[in-house]
Amino acid sequence: MPDQRTDLRSTIAAQIRIGGPISIATYMGLCLTHPHKGYYRKADPLGVAGDFVTAPEISQMFGELIGVWAVNLWAQMGGPERFSLLELGPGRGTLMADLLLVAGRTPGFSAALDLRLHDASEVLKAEQHRRLARHAPKWIEDFDELPDQPVIVIANEFFDALPIRQFVRADGRWHERCVGLKDGGLAFGLSPTPMPETAFPESVRTARDGELYELGLAAIETMSRLASAIAPRGGAVLAIDYGYPATGTGETLQAVARHAFADPLAAPGDADLSAHVDFEALGAAARNAGLDVPAIVTQGEFLDAMGIHERAEVLSSANPEDAEAIASSLNRLTAADQMGSLFKVFAAVSPGLRPPGFGA
Ligand code: SAH
Repeated sequence: MPDQRTDLRSTIAAQIRIGGPISIATYMGLCLTHPHKGYYRKADPLGVAGDFVTAPEISQMFGELIGVWAVNLWAQMGGPERFSLLELGPGRGTLMADLLLVAGRTPGFSAALDLRLHDASEVLKAEQHRRLARHAPKWIEDFDELPDQPVIVIANEFFDALPIRQFVRADGRWHERCVGLKDGGLAFGLSPTPMPETAFPESVRTARDGELYELGLAAIETMSRLASAIAPRGGAVLAIDYGYPATGTGETLQAVARHAFADPLAAPGDADLSAHVDFEALGAAARNAGLDVPAIVTQGEFLDAMGIHERAEVLSSANPEDAEAIASSLNRLTAADQMGSLFKVFAAVSPGLRPPGFGA
């Protein structure tokens, strides 16, 4: 029996032999969420022993401050007696556990809470269950399963895991970049058929030959459905990701394995694939559904405004022996040369709500 881990390559090669080259989105979807051999289906990718470390795994302060954010919005909505708190891609449940520890100190919050989680990984769902069982979470597949009550949504490093398509400008037209077969191996190539120009946003229509445009339809579609679920119920969504403020050109697809960059075609299903999020496109999707969208801020700006420095001081005085570690995680989360500038924070809220952390 071949190891299932190495087998996804032959599955993909067979699919290409039968049906022809596949889009980057199809390739990413197979690599990440193929039912048996997808990256997120097989194992826990997070942490020092895994492939990458996320903000909530670096410090409890991250989830705690998002807890402050959630309580603030719940209070702005008048402290509803029932509301849904939904996390997309909760990973190990660390962010939510830290969030609930802080939010639980606000009278009425825990009693009003319906915890909902959405995740593609059975391995991580089991871990989420272990961490959060006390709060009786329910897992949902789609947003129309949300009860008819206000909803607050949190997503850290979720949208960047959703498939993107890539188009390359050649001879003055956009051609889709695909994964095909060359000399028996997986290889990138361009579709010979140009795309209709009107399918592309104005901001990339003047691109020069050789430029690459990424279209994150799965993220746009997800935000659109999410915002349509939030709008009639009232509520807000907070999303933190690698990303850019305005639609434009440039390649951001990346593969990471064992804390190092890898070739996206080298080990399908064994490396994490992600792409930076087009926050202008997500904002448009949320606004179309009737939500307000403030300008995105950097993770550093957001955590700063939410009081991470004050929180770090409190933690350090309570645990002087940990002061160095706390200072070091503070730096990793907020410094411009660490996660502070690369990661952006996006919010979309029901009209009238003012999400904290987004400036005046
Ligand atoms: N938010 C966590 C985990 C980030 S990793 C943290 O910050 O630590 C990405 C998470 O999104 C994982 O939990 C993964 O299982 C989930 N995920 C990835 N693609 C998904 C998809 N298409 N549908 C649902 N969940 C997905």
